[in-house]
Amino acid sequence: MEGQKQRRAAANEATIRDVNEGIERGQWPGEEDKPVGFRCECARLGCNQLVELTVREYEEIRANPRHFVLVPGHELPEVETVVERKTSGYIIVEKLDQAGEVAEHSDPRA
Ligand SMILES: [Zn+2]
Repeated sequence: MEGQKQRRAAANEATIRDVNEGIERGQWPGEEDKPVGFRCECARLGCNQLVELTVREYEEIRANPRHFVLVPGHELPEVETVVERKTSGYIIVEKLDQAGEVAEHSDPRA
């Protein structure tokens, strides 16, 4: 697995993460436990599917800069590994190697 593809995939996902940060900021205080439609943060170009989770759940994922939320089946085994499968309809992946480094460096909260 050469690093260029990993970096490109991670950059795309970092862009979508910015979108999701905006979605999160658009929520009212006190609605942390209300399901919200976040964008799938996978590496597929043009993926515009939504995953439903609460702001509180999204915050837990975002606490780790290498973790992303995806529609089940959208993971790319060569750049990420599934760390959790939620029965409510989304999965959490962790970026590997160079993709993980890009994810950390592009973290808007870093
Ligand atoms: Zn996707």
